[in-house]
Formats: sequence, structure tokens, C-alpha cells
Amino acid sequence: MAAKDERIMGYKRSSKNSGVISIAMPFLFVAVLMSLGVGVFQLMKASGKPDQPQGQVSQNTPPQNTGNTHPPDTLSSMKRIDDFLAANGSKIKKVESTEIVATNETPRAVAGGVISFRAKITGTGSDGSSLAEYYSNVDITESPGIIILRQGCAAIPVSDKTPKMLEIKANFFGIERSFSYSILFQNQAESNELILVNRYTKNLGEQFMPESFYPSSAFQLESAAGAALSQLLEAAASDGASFYSASAYRSYSLQETLYDRAIINHGKNQRSSAPPGHSEHQTGLAVDFTTNALNGSLLEEFDQTDAYEWLQENASDYGFILRYSKDNIDVTGYIYEPWHFRYIGKAAAGQYIAEGWESLDEYLSIPR
Ligand SMILES: [Zn+2]
Repeated sequence: MAAKDERIMGYKRSSKNSGVISIAMPFLFVAVLMSLGVGVFQLMKASGKPDQPQGQVSQNTPPQNTGNTHPPDTLSSMKRIDDFLAANGSKIKKVESTEIVATNETPRAVAGGVISFRAKITGTGSDGSSLAEYYSNVDITESPGIIILRQGCAAIPVSDKTPKMLEIKANFFGIERSFSYSILFQNQAESNELILVNRYTKNLGEQFMPESFYPSSAFQLESAAGAALSQLLEAAASDGASFYSASAYRSYSLQETLYDRAIINHGKNQRSSAPPGHSEHQTGLAVDFTTNALNGSLLEEFDQTDAYEWLQENASDYGFILRYSKDNIDVTGYIYEPWHFRYIGKAAAGQYIAEGWESLDEYLSIPR
């Protein structure tokens, strides 16, 4: 079943106090659309969605999201928003509407997923042009069943207390919206290139492993991911970019060893190694790249190499995406890892890049 949903572009909060949305690629896209006087959100809604594999999650009857954004119905709310916009150098001089939108607008959410909320403010600029701006200064009401990762962003951790239905309340200067989700649990017995694995998902368990492996002496990956990686490496080599897999599939017990070592070396709050059962490497869908120049090590300097530049441009054509970027550290809970790529298949990777998503945790919290 193709989920009927509304996806919005990924975004990030400025590291400075203001919280103005994203100055990266999605922002440029937004800016271009704004100059065309096009409603970004409406445009995203109209975009085509590739077919997705089925069977990742169990289906429940969804509740109905209220979908109603309360208008700024008090003078004080409107004034606070005006003041906020002025303080943040907004180009909007006259506000027409303020609403809260979410990366997951559907009434279903995958357990272990992450949902981000932002305020969409539309209005007119000093020259009368139509503008739309997004801000992540949205307060989420703490409630059982969620972990607030940063302002406007919450995870739905899997535990024996994970609710089947969840309501998340979001507030932006008195504008309130309530989002209701029925929570779907991934079927981990079924190998799936769209499986979500992170700190908040269910432990994969000691026995979990890919159904089949791609035959290669250079790396160990799940069949489809391995075939894609093989093509990727071939294309990179013919383009003169040279890199290789330093680490691909890892068993539960190997991850346990690595995790224990990371704790000894960096303390129990380290953010570089996943606990056993929570590593994407156990799925056989993740690969860490390195180069000879880096002596086979996994280093941040990888993002200065030709290899990385090639990957940035081409990885998604082979179904791979950068998993732990600089901008989603709060969301993923892991350090920036320019070397770690995750296979999600060509269709999903293309969509992920085209729509400007910034974390797989958000992308995959919508059932697909
Ligand atoms: Zn990795």
C-alpha cells in the first residue's frame, strides 16, 4: 500500500539562538520557490512518490489527525509572532497564516522513528510578494511514549511501554496543534532494505542477520546491497575515485566487542558506536568507506577526499545515502560519520535526496 502522506523537506535549526530554518540545500530550494511565489508545502504534496516495497510494518486502523491549525486567535499570540519574526530578520512584514507542519503528517508512525515539527509562516514582504518561512522553534509537550531530541523534534522509542496510539502536542507561540498517530511495529523477521535501525528501535537480537549475502571477497553485505555496492565501486573506479569498504556486515557479537571497546575508550556517553542489536551494520545494509590515503581508518577527514565528493554526487544513484551527517547529530544520536553509507534502494534514495531529507530516522518514521 502506498502510504498517502504529505512529506515536507528536511530542515535543521540554526546553531545560533534564532532557530531560523536551514540555510542548506532545502533552503535554497525554498528560496527559489518563494521567488516564484509558489507554496512550497503544496508543491511537495503534489510531487510523485515512487512505489515502495510493502510489508515492513503491521497495519492498524489509523486515527484521524485533526489537521486543524488554530489560527492566531489572540492579539498576544500574533504580537509575539510578529516580534519573533522581527528579531529573526524575517522578510515577512505582514503575516497571513501560521501553522504547524510535521515531517510525518500521516496518522501512522513507525515505532523507533523520529518526527520533526516546524512552524510554517506565510505572508507578504515589504514589496508585497508572497513568502513562506519555516521555523523549528516549536515546543513539544513532553509525554510518555516520546523522547524530545531537540526543540521541535521527538523520537518514539520502542519499549514494552510504547503506546499503540500516541498524541503529540506542538505549540508555536500559542498556535497549537495535536498530532495523533497509530504506532506501527516493524517486522524484523522480514529482511527489508527500508528497515529502520537506530537507538530507539527494538534490539535486533543476537540471531538477526541478512537472509543472504552478496558473494564478494572485498566486503560482506546483504545480496541486493552488495550487488549495488559492487556496481558503485566499479563506477567510482572508472571515474578515478578510489575507495573501499573498511567495514560492512557486522554480527551482534562483533558489535558487542566494538561497543565495549568504545565505552572503555570514550566513556559510557560515547556517540560513536551503537549498542549491540542497534547497529545498521548488523542488517548488512551499511558500509563504512575509507581510502589508502587514510590508511584504512574511519576519519572525519574522509569528507575532504575525492572519494567523498564522488559519493556525494553518485551514491544515491546506487541506492546509498549518507546516514550520519553533520546536521542531524541531535536526531541520530551519533557523531558525524562521513564514511558511513546506508543502502535503502534506488527509488528511496532518489526520493530521499530529491525531497531534501536530513535523517533516515525521520524519513522512515512514515510507513512505506
Ligand atoms: Zn558504520
